[in-house]
Amino acid sequence: MSLDVNKIREDFEILSESMNGKPLVYLDSAATALKPKAVLEAMEKYHTTASANVHRGVYKISNEATEMYEGARTTVAQFINATSEREIVFTKGATSALNLVAMSYGLHNLKPGDEILTTELEHHSSFLPWQNVAKVTGAILKFIPLTDEGRVTVENFESVLTDNTKVVALNHVSNVMGYIAPIKEICELAHQKGAVVVVDAAQSAPHIPIDVQALDCDFLALTGHKIYGPTGIGVLYGKFDLLNEMEPIEFGGEMIDIVEKEASTFKDAPFRFEAGTPPIAGAIGLAAGMEYLNNLGWDRVRQHELELRDYATQQMSKIEGLKIFNPTTDTGIISFNVDMVHPHDMATVYDVNGVCVRAGHHCAQPLMKWLCQPATLRATFSIYNTKEDVDTLIAATLEGKETFGDVF
Ligand code: PMP
Repeated sequence: MSLDVNKIREDFEILSESMNGKPLVYLDSAATALKPKAVLEAMEKYHTTASANVHRGVYKISNEATEMYEGARTTVAQFINATSEREIVFTKGATSALNLVAMSYGLHNLKPGDEILTTELEHHSSFLPWQNVAKVTGAILKFIPLTDEGRVTVENFESVLTDNTKVVALNHVSNVMGYIAPIKEICELAHQKGAVVVVDAAQSAPHIPIDVQALDCDFLALTGHKIYGPTGIGVLYGKFDLLNEMEPIEFGGEMIDIVEKEASTFKDAPFRFEAGTPPIAGAIGLAAGMEYLNNLGWDRVRQHELELRDYATQQMSKIEGLKIFNPTTDTGIISFNVDMVHPHDMATVYDVNGVCVRAGHHCAQPLMKWLCQPATLRATFSIYNTKEDVDTLIAATLEGKETFGDVF
Protein backbone atom coordinates (compact mmCIF):
# COMPACT_ATOMS: atom_id res chain seq x y z
CA MET A 1 0.00 0.00 0.00
CA SER A 2 1.27 3.49 -0.76
CA LEU A 3 1.19 6.62 1.38
CA ASP A 4 -2.14 8.41 1.57
CA VAL A 5 -0.63 11.77 0.67
CA ASN A 6 -3.95 13.65 0.62
CA LYS A 7 -4.57 12.58 4.19
CA ILE A 8 -1.02 13.47 5.20
CA ARG A 9 -1.41 16.91 3.64
CA GLU A 10 -4.42 17.56 5.89
CA ASP A 11 -2.12 17.12 8.89
CA PHE A 12 0.04 20.04 7.72
CA GLU A 13 -2.15 23.14 7.91
CA ILE A 14 0.41 25.36 6.24
CA LEU A 15 -0.04 23.42 3.00
CA SER A 16 -3.43 25.02 2.50
CA GLU A 17 -1.81 28.47 2.62
CA SER A 18 -0.69 30.39 -0.44
CA MET A 19 2.57 32.21 -1.11
CA ASN A 20 2.60 35.25 -3.41
CA GLY A 21 -0.97 34.41 -4.41
CA LYS A 22 -0.06 30.87 -5.50
CA PRO A 23 -0.71 27.57 -3.70
CA LEU A 24 2.27 26.77 -1.51
CA VAL A 25 4.63 24.15 -2.96
CA TYR A 26 7.10 23.29 -0.25
CA LEU A 27 10.26 21.66 -1.60
CA ASP A 28 12.69 22.67 1.12
CA SER A 29 12.28 19.92 3.72
CA ALA A 30 16.04 19.32 3.78
CA ALA A 31 16.33 22.81 5.30
CA THR A 32 13.45 22.24 7.68
CA ALA A 33 10.37 20.03 7.51
CA LEU A 34 6.83 21.29 8.02
CA LYS A 35 5.14 20.35 11.30
CA PRO A 36 2.08 18.11 11.52
CA LYS A 37 -0.80 18.87 13.91
CA ALA A 38 0.26 15.96 16.12
CA VAL A 39 3.54 17.73 16.94
CA LEU A 40 1.88 21.06 17.68
CA GLU A 41 -0.76 19.34 19.84
CA ALA A 42 1.84 17.42 21.85
CA MET A 43 3.69 20.63 22.61
CA GLU A 44 0.48 22.47 23.42
CA LYS A 45 -0.54 19.66 25.77
CA TYR A 46 2.65 20.12 27.74
CA HIS A 47 2.24 23.90 27.87
CA THR A 48 -1.43 23.77 28.84
CA THR A 49 -1.50 20.81 31.23
CA ALA A 50 1.95 20.37 32.75
CA SER A 51 3.95 23.51 32.12
CA ALA A 52 6.42 22.96 34.92
CA ASN A 53 10.15 22.35 35.07
CA VAL A 54 11.50 18.79 35.03
CA HIS A 55 13.53 16.68 37.47
CA ARG A 56 12.45 18.85 40.41
CA GLY A 57 9.19 17.09 41.01
CA VAL A 58 7.81 17.87 44.38
CA TYR A 59 4.39 18.49 42.93
CA LYS A 60 2.10 16.72 40.47
CA ILE A 61 2.51 18.73 37.27
CA SER A 62 6.28 18.77 37.63
CA ASN A 63 6.25 14.97 37.85
CA GLU A 64 4.03 14.90 34.77
CA ALA A 65 6.41 17.20 32.89
CA THR A 66 9.32 14.91 33.84
CA GLU A 67 7.38 11.88 32.64
CA MET A 68 6.70 13.57 29.30
CA TYR A 69 10.31 14.68 28.88
CA GLU A 70 11.82 11.34 29.86
CA GLY A 71 9.16 9.57 27.80
CA ALA A 72 10.44 11.57 24.81
CA ARG A 73 13.94 10.26 25.53
CA THR A 74 12.58 6.69 25.43
CA THR A 75 10.87 7.41 22.08
CA VAL A 76 14.14 8.74 20.65
CA ALA A 77 16.09 5.72 21.95
CA GLN A 78 13.57 3.40 20.27
CA PHE A 79 13.57 5.47 17.07
CA ILE A 80 17.29 4.86 16.54
CA ASN A 81 17.39 1.50 18.38
CA ALA A 82 19.80 2.65 21.10
CA THR A 83 20.40 0.09 23.85
CA SER A 84 19.19 2.51 26.52
CA GLU A 85 17.80 6.00 27.17
CA ARG A 86 21.09 6.75 28.90
CA GLU A 87 22.66 7.00 25.44
CA ILE A 88 20.38 9.88 24.40
CA VAL A 89 21.46 13.46 25.12
CA PHE A 90 19.04 16.24 24.24
CA THR A 91 20.76 19.21 22.59
CA LYS A 92 19.76 22.34 20.69
CA GLY A 93 20.15 20.60 17.33
CA ALA A 94 22.57 18.55 15.26
CA THR A 95 25.08 21.39 15.32
CA SER A 96 25.34 21.43 19.11
CA ALA A 97 25.38 17.62 19.23
CA LEU A 98 28.34 17.47 16.84
CA ASN A 99 30.13 20.29 18.66
CA LEU A 100 29.61 18.45 21.94
CA VAL A 101 31.48 15.38 20.67
CA ALA A 102 34.27 17.47 19.18
CA MET A 103 34.71 19.72 22.23
CA SER A 104 34.45 16.95 24.79
CA TYR A 105 35.72 13.74 23.15
CA GLY A 106 37.88 15.43 20.50
CA LEU A 107 39.70 18.03 22.57
CA HIS A 108 40.39 15.59 25.40
CA ASN A 109 41.49 12.56 23.39
CA LEU A 110 43.40 13.82 20.37
CA LYS A 111 47.07 14.79 20.25
CA PRO A 112 49.50 16.04 17.58
CA GLY A 113 49.81 13.59 14.70
CA ASP A 114 46.49 11.84 15.33
CA GLU A 115 44.30 11.78 12.26
CA ILE A 116 40.67 12.82 11.78
CA LEU A 117 39.00 11.54 8.62
CA THR A 118 36.17 13.50 7.10
CA THR A 119 34.81 14.38 3.64
CA GLU A 120 34.24 17.36 1.37
CA LEU A 121 30.57 16.39 1.44
CA GLU A 122 30.08 17.58 5.00
CA HIS A 123 27.69 20.22 6.20
CA HIS A 124 29.74 22.86 8.02
CA SER A 125 28.27 21.57 11.29
CA SER A 126 29.94 18.22 10.78
CA PHE A 127 33.20 19.64 9.47
CA LEU A 128 34.04 22.84 11.36
CA PRO A 129 34.04 21.32 14.90
CA TRP A 130 36.78 18.91 13.74
CA GLN A 131 38.72 21.59 11.88
CA ASN A 132 38.81 23.37 15.23
CA VAL A 133 39.86 20.22 17.12
CA ALA A 134 42.70 19.76 14.61
CA LYS A 135 43.79 23.38 15.08
CA VAL A 136 43.75 23.17 18.89
CA THR A 137 45.25 19.69 19.36
CA GLY A 138 47.66 19.45 16.41
CA ALA A 139 45.72 16.51 14.97
CA ILE A 140 45.63 16.22 11.18
CA LEU A 141 42.40 16.59 9.22
CA LYS A 142 42.31 14.25 6.21
CA PHE A 143 39.69 13.87 3.51
CA ILE A 144 38.28 10.63 2.19
CA PRO A 145 38.55 10.95 -1.61
CA LEU A 146 35.17 11.14 -3.33
CA THR A 147 34.28 9.20 -6.47
CA ASP A 148 33.58 11.11 -9.69
CA GLU A 149 29.91 11.08 -8.67
CA GLY A 150 30.79 12.59 -5.31
CA ARG A 151 30.27 9.48 -3.20
CA VAL A 152 32.16 8.04 -0.26
CA THR A 153 33.06 4.40 -0.87
CA VAL A 154 34.50 1.79 1.47
CA GLU A 155 37.47 1.42 -0.86
CA ASN A 156 38.24 5.15 -0.80
CA PHE A 157 37.80 5.18 2.96
CA GLU A 158 40.32 2.35 3.33
CA SER A 159 42.80 4.23 1.17
CA VAL A 160 43.19 6.95 3.84
CA LEU A 161 42.57 4.92 7.00
CA THR A 162 45.79 4.43 9.00
CA ASP A 163 46.92 3.34 12.45
CA ASN A 164 46.87 7.05 13.37
CA THR A 165 43.17 7.49 12.56
CA LYS A 166 41.40 8.36 15.79
CA VAL A 167 38.13 9.91 14.62
CA VAL A 168 35.99 9.50 11.52
CA ALA A 169 33.39 12.26 11.14
CA LEU A 170 30.97 12.08 8.25
CA ASN A 171 27.36 12.38 7.25
CA HIS A 172 24.97 9.49 6.77
CA VAL A 173 23.17 11.36 3.97
CA SER A 174 24.61 14.44 2.27
CA ASN A 175 22.36 17.49 2.44
CA VAL A 176 23.37 18.43 -1.12
CA MET A 177 23.94 15.12 -2.92
CA GLY A 178 21.44 12.94 -1.04
CA TYR A 179 23.81 9.97 -1.13
CA ILE A 180 23.75 7.37 1.63
CA ALA A 181 27.25 6.67 2.97
CA PRO A 182 28.33 3.08 3.81
CA ILE A 183 28.42 3.81 7.54
CA LYS A 184 28.24 0.20 8.79
CA GLU A 185 31.29 -0.89 6.77
CA ILE A 186 33.17 2.29 7.72
CA CYS A 187 32.50 1.66 11.42
CA GLU A 188 33.76 -1.89 11.15
CA LEU A 189 37.03 -0.83 9.53
CA ALA A 190 37.49 2.22 11.79
CA HIS A 191 37.02 0.08 14.90
CA GLN A 192 39.76 -2.29 13.74
CA LYS A 193 42.10 0.73 14.03
CA GLY A 194 40.63 1.81 17.38
CA ALA A 195 39.00 4.95 15.89
CA VAL A 196 35.56 6.27 16.80
CA VAL A 197 32.95 7.16 14.18
CA VAL A 198 30.76 10.25 14.52
CA VAL A 199 27.76 10.17 12.20
CA ASP A 200 25.83 13.26 11.17
CA ALA A 201 22.35 11.82 10.64
CA ALA A 202 20.56 15.17 10.26
CA GLN A 203 19.48 14.29 6.72
CA SER A 204 19.07 10.53 7.07
CA ALA A 205 16.86 10.39 10.16
CA PRO A 206 13.78 11.79 8.34
CA HIS A 207 14.11 9.46 5.35
CA ILE A 208 15.59 6.09 6.28
CA PRO A 209 15.25 4.02 9.45
CA ILE A 210 18.28 4.33 11.72
CA ASP A 211 19.61 1.49 13.81
CA VAL A 212 22.66 2.59 15.78
CA GLN A 213 23.32 -0.95 16.98
CA ALA A 214 23.34 -2.33 13.44
CA LEU A 215 25.52 0.55 12.22
CA ASP A 216 27.69 0.18 15.33
CA CYS A 217 28.56 3.90 15.19
CA ASP A 218 30.00 5.49 18.34
CA PHE A 219 28.17 8.81 18.10
CA LEU A 220 25.26 10.00 15.99
CA ALA A 221 23.64 13.41 15.77
CA LEU A 222 20.21 14.38 14.53
CA THR A 223 18.06 17.48 14.57
CA GLY A 224 14.37 17.72 15.47
CA HIS A 225 13.12 20.26 12.96
CA LYS A 226 13.97 18.04 9.99
CA ILE A 227 12.00 15.13 11.50
CA TYR A 228 8.75 17.09 11.51
CA GLY A 229 9.51 18.32 15.05
CA PRO A 230 10.20 21.84 16.33
CA THR A 231 13.38 23.89 16.09
CA GLY A 232 15.72 24.17 19.08
CA ILE A 233 15.91 20.44 19.80
CA GLY A 234 18.37 17.81 18.65
CA VAL A 235 19.93 14.60 19.84
CA LEU A 236 23.37 13.24 20.44
CA TYR A 237 23.47 9.48 20.63
CA GLY A 238 26.65 8.02 22.12
CA LYS A 239 27.60 4.54 23.27
CA PHE A 240 27.10 4.77 27.01
CA ASP A 241 30.62 3.82 28.08
CA LEU A 242 32.10 6.48 25.80
CA LEU A 243 29.59 9.15 26.79
CA ASN A 244 29.97 8.50 30.48
CA GLU A 245 33.75 8.94 30.29
CA MET A 246 33.43 12.32 28.60
CA GLU A 247 33.75 15.68 30.33
CA PRO A 248 30.79 18.06 30.32
CA ILE A 249 31.24 21.16 28.16
CA GLU A 250 28.52 23.23 29.80
CA PHE A 251 28.14 23.67 33.53
CA GLY A 252 25.20 24.77 35.63
CA GLY A 253 21.97 23.49 37.11
CA GLU A 254 20.57 19.97 36.61
CA MET A 255 23.89 18.35 35.58
CA ILE A 256 25.58 18.25 38.96
CA ASP A 257 26.00 15.63 41.64
CA ILE A 258 27.66 17.51 44.53
CA VAL A 259 28.88 21.09 44.33
CA GLU A 260 31.47 22.34 46.77
CA LYS A 261 33.51 25.52 46.89
CA GLU A 262 36.68 23.72 45.88
CA ALA A 263 35.43 21.15 43.36
CA SER A 264 32.28 19.47 42.14
CA THR A 265 31.06 16.18 40.74
CA PHE A 266 28.59 15.60 37.96
CA LYS A 267 25.78 13.23 37.13
CA ASP A 268 26.25 10.30 34.79
CA ALA A 269 25.44 10.60 31.09
CA PRO A 270 23.18 11.82 29.62
CA PHE A 271 22.39 14.36 32.37
CA ARG A 272 25.96 15.64 32.72
CA PHE A 273 25.52 17.10 29.21
CA GLU A 274 22.16 18.75 29.85
CA ALA A 275 23.06 21.80 31.94
CA GLY A 276 20.22 24.19 32.73
CA THR A 277 16.53 23.87 32.04
CA PRO A 278 16.29 21.54 29.06
CA PRO A 279 14.19 22.13 25.92
CA ILE A 280 11.21 20.27 27.43
CA ALA A 281 8.52 21.20 24.91
CA GLY A 282 11.04 20.65 22.10
CA ALA A 283 11.82 17.11 23.21
CA ILE A 284 8.11 16.32 23.50
CA GLY A 285 7.50 17.75 20.03
CA LEU A 286 10.41 15.81 18.56
CA ALA A 287 9.10 12.55 20.00
CA ALA A 288 5.69 13.31 18.46
CA GLY A 289 7.36 13.92 15.09
CA MET A 290 9.15 10.59 15.32
CA GLU A 291 5.95 8.80 16.27
CA TYR A 292 4.16 10.45 13.35
CA LEU A 293 6.83 9.19 10.97
CA ASN A 294 6.88 5.69 12.50
CA ASN A 295 3.10 5.45 12.10
CA LEU A 296 3.31 6.20 8.38
CA GLY A 297 5.49 3.13 7.87
CA TRP A 298 9.09 3.40 6.70
CA ASP A 299 8.66 1.30 3.58
CA ARG A 300 5.84 3.54 2.36
CA VAL A 301 7.73 6.74 3.20
CA ARG A 302 10.77 5.51 1.32
CA GLN A 303 8.75 4.28 -1.66
CA HIS A 304 6.88 7.58 -1.96
CA GLU A 305 10.00 9.72 -1.76
CA LEU A 306 11.83 7.59 -4.32
CA GLU A 307 8.88 7.71 -6.72
CA LEU A 308 8.93 11.50 -6.55
CA ARG A 309 12.70 11.50 -6.97
CA ASP A 310 12.37 9.39 -10.13
CA TYR A 311 9.55 11.48 -11.57
CA ALA A 312 11.37 14.73 -10.80
CA THR A 313 14.71 13.60 -12.27
CA GLN A 314 12.92 12.37 -15.42
CA GLN A 315 11.06 15.66 -15.90
CA MET A 316 14.09 17.79 -15.06
CA SER A 317 16.29 15.86 -17.48
CA LYS A 318 13.99 16.99 -20.31
CA ILE A 319 14.92 20.64 -19.72
CA GLU A 320 17.81 21.62 -21.93
CA GLY A 321 20.62 23.30 -20.02
CA LEU A 322 19.46 21.97 -16.65
CA LYS A 323 22.23 20.06 -14.90
CA ILE A 324 21.48 17.74 -12.02
CA PHE A 325 24.59 17.31 -9.86
CA ASN A 326 23.36 14.10 -8.24
CA PRO A 327 21.31 12.22 -10.86
CA THR A 328 21.78 8.98 -8.88
CA THR A 329 20.68 10.49 -5.54
CA ASP A 330 19.58 7.88 -2.97
CA THR A 331 16.92 10.15 -1.45
CA GLY A 332 14.46 12.89 -2.41
CA ILE A 333 17.24 15.51 -2.43
CA ILE A 334 18.04 16.88 -5.92
CA SER A 335 20.67 19.57 -6.54
CA PHE A 336 20.78 21.36 -9.85
CA ASN A 337 21.48 24.52 -11.80
CA VAL A 338 20.27 25.93 -15.07
CA ASP A 339 22.88 27.07 -17.58
CA MET A 340 23.58 30.80 -17.49
CA VAL A 341 21.00 31.41 -14.76
CA HIS A 342 22.23 32.28 -11.30
CA PRO A 343 20.52 30.07 -8.69
CA HIS A 344 19.36 33.13 -6.77
CA ASP A 345 17.70 34.56 -9.89
CA MET A 346 15.96 31.25 -10.43
CA ALA A 347 14.88 31.24 -6.78
CA THR A 348 13.05 34.55 -7.28
CA VAL A 349 10.99 32.96 -10.07
CA TYR A 350 10.21 29.98 -7.84
CA ASP A 351 9.19 32.40 -5.10
CA VAL A 352 6.63 34.27 -7.22
CA ASN A 353 5.25 30.89 -8.29
CA GLY A 354 4.73 29.80 -4.67
CA VAL A 355 7.59 27.28 -4.82
CA CYS A 356 10.00 27.02 -1.88
CA VAL A 357 13.37 25.79 -3.15
CA ARG A 358 16.74 26.38 -1.53
CA ALA A 359 19.43 28.35 -3.39
CA GLY A 360 22.94 28.81 -2.01
CA HIS A 361 25.94 26.88 -0.77
CA HIS A 362 23.81 24.81 1.63
CA CYS A 363 26.41 25.25 4.42
CA ALA A 364 28.73 23.02 2.38
CA GLN A 365 31.30 25.34 0.84
CA PRO A 366 34.01 22.67 0.38
CA LEU A 367 31.46 20.67 -1.63
CA MET A 368 30.57 23.72 -3.76
CA LYS A 369 34.28 24.01 -4.53
CA TRP A 370 34.39 20.31 -5.43
CA LEU A 371 31.39 20.83 -7.74
CA CYS A 372 33.00 24.02 -9.16
CA GLN A 373 29.79 25.92 -8.44
CA PRO A 374 29.36 29.05 -6.30
CA ALA A 375 25.90 27.79 -5.35
CA THR A 376 23.21 25.34 -6.42
CA LEU A 377 19.46 25.01 -6.32
CA ARG A 378 18.12 22.20 -4.18
CA ALA A 379 14.64 20.68 -4.20
CA THR A 380 13.68 18.08 -1.60
CA PHE A 381 10.77 15.68 -2.01
CA SER A 382 9.13 14.53 1.16
CA ILE A 383 6.08 12.75 2.58
CA TYR A 384 3.63 15.58 1.77
CA ASN A 385 4.82 16.29 -1.77
CA THR A 386 3.01 15.23 -4.91
CA LYS A 387 3.68 14.81 -8.63
CA GLU A 388 1.75 18.07 -9.09
CA ASP A 389 4.43 19.75 -6.97
CA VAL A 390 7.03 18.43 -9.39
CA ASP A 391 5.00 19.76 -12.33
CA THR A 392 4.82 23.22 -10.73
CA LEU A 393 8.58 23.15 -10.17
CA ILE A 394 9.16 22.24 -13.82
CA ALA A 395 6.82 24.96 -15.11
CA ALA A 396 8.54 27.57 -12.91
CA THR A 397 11.96 26.35 -14.05
CA LEU A 398 10.99 26.80 -17.69
CA GLU A 399 9.70 30.29 -16.87
CA GLY A 400 12.96 31.15 -15.10
CA LYS A 401 15.01 29.81 -17.96
CA GLU A 402 13.05 31.96 -20.40
CA THR A 403 13.29 35.05 -18.20
CA PHE A 404 16.99 34.87 -17.34
CA GLY A 405 18.54 32.31 -19.66
CA ASP A 406 18.70 34.41 -22.78
CA VAL A 407 20.21 37.60 -21.41
CA PHE A 408 23.79 36.74 -22.46
N1 PMP B 1 24.11 18.33 9.17
C1 PMP B 1 23.41 18.34 8.04
C2 PMP B 1 23.73 17.32 6.98
C3 PMP B 1 22.40 19.28 7.84
O1 PMP B 1 21.71 19.29 6.70
C4 PMP B 1 22.13 20.22 8.88
C5 PMP B 1 21.05 21.26 8.72
N2 PMP B 1 21.03 21.92 7.51
C6 PMP B 1 22.89 20.15 10.04
C7 PMP B 1 23.87 19.20 10.16
C8 PMP B 1 22.68 21.11 11.17
O2 PMP B 1 21.42 21.00 11.74
P1 PMP B 1 20.93 22.13 12.76
O3 PMP B 1 21.11 23.44 12.03
O4 PMP B 1 19.50 21.84 13.01
O5 PMP B 1 21.78 22.05 13.96
